[in-house]
Amino acid sequence: MAEDERLVGKLTVASDVINAAVDFFHDEGFIQLLPVMLGKSTDPLGPDPGSSVIKTAEIEYLGAKLRLMNSMILHKQVAVRKLGKKIWILSPNIRLEKGERKTTKKHLFEFTQADFEIPNAKKEDVMALVERFYKKLNKRMRKSEAFTALGIEPFKFKTPFKVYETHKLEEKYGADWEAPASEAAKQPFWALCHKREFYDKEDVSNPGHYLNYDLVYPLGFGEALSGGERESDYKRILERMGRDKLSMDIYTAYLKEAEQGFLPSAGAGFGIERLVRFLTKEEHIGGVQLFRRVPGEDITI
Ligand code: ASP
Ligand code: MG
Repeated sequence: MAEDERLVGKLTVASDVINAAVDFFHDEGFIQLLPVMLGKSTDPLGPDPGSSVIKTAEIEYLGAKLRLMNSMILHKQVAVRKLGKKIWILSPNIRLEKGERKTTKKHLFEFTQADFEIPNAKKEDVMALVERFYKKLNKRMRKSEAFTALGIEPFKFKTPFKVYETHKLEEKYGADWEAPASEAAKQPFWALCHKREFYDKEDVSNPGHYLNYDLVYPLGFGEALSGGERESDYKRILERMGRDKLSMDIYTAYLKEAEQGFLPSAGAGFGIERLVRFLTKEEHIGGVQLFRRVPGEDITI
C-alpha cells in the first residue's frame, strides 16, 4: 500500500502526460534528442518580466567553466542547423529563482520542460502544433484511470485558443496581467509579443514588437509555455545581446556557432510539472513532484 495514494495518482497523470508528449512529437515527425545538462553557454533568462533568477549555476570542470541549463534554447538553434529537422527534448532545467517565488505556486528551481524547435517555421505553425497537442491530450486523459483515483474530471481543452496581444492584456489588467487574466479565463489563451530574451525575433517591420508567444492556463494556473520565432542572423543576435547588456563571456561559445549562421526557426517549451499541476488541480506545483524543488524550501533528500 502506497504511503500517499494521491501522490501516486498525480505521478500517474505525469507519466501519462510524458507518454502523450512522446507519442505526439513522434507522430508529428520530430526527432527526440537526449538532453544536455551542462554547457558553456545557456539561456540568459532575461530580460523577462517573468524571470527572477538569482544566478546561473556554474561548475568548474578540468579548467573549464560550465553552466547548468537554464534552458536548451541555444543548443536547440545549433541542433536545428546541424540536423535540419524538427527536434524536441524532455529537458531538465535548473533555474535558481528567489525564495519569494515559493508563493507564486508555479515556480520550481528544478523542473522538466518539453522543449521543441522547428526549422523554417513561423509562430502560427507553433501555435497550431501546440493546439493539436492539447486536443490530443483530451482523449488521452479521458482514458487515464488516475483521474478516477483523484476524484476529478479531466479538463477538456477547446481549441483554437483565444489570442491576445500582451499590451492589450496590460491595458486591461495592469503590468501584472498574468494572474488576473488567467483567473478570468475558462480556457488556455495565447499572449503575443513580449520584450524578452535576445533570441526571440523582433519584427523588423515593426521595431519594439516581437514574434513570440506565451500560452497561459486558465483558472489562475498561469503560464504554461513560452516560445518564439528566433533571431537567426549573426548581426541581429549581436545587436540584441548588446541591447540587453549581456555579459559576453557566457556567450562566446554560442556566438561562434551563430557566426556559422543558424536556420530560421521557431519553437517553444511547456513545463511538464505545470501541465500536471493544471490537470490535477494541485494547489502548489511542488505537490506534483516526488522530490520537491520549490524555491525557498528546504530539500529533504
Ligand atoms: N523553451 C523556451 C523557448 O523555446 C525558452 C524557455 O525555456 O523559457 O523559447
Ligand atoms: Mg516564460
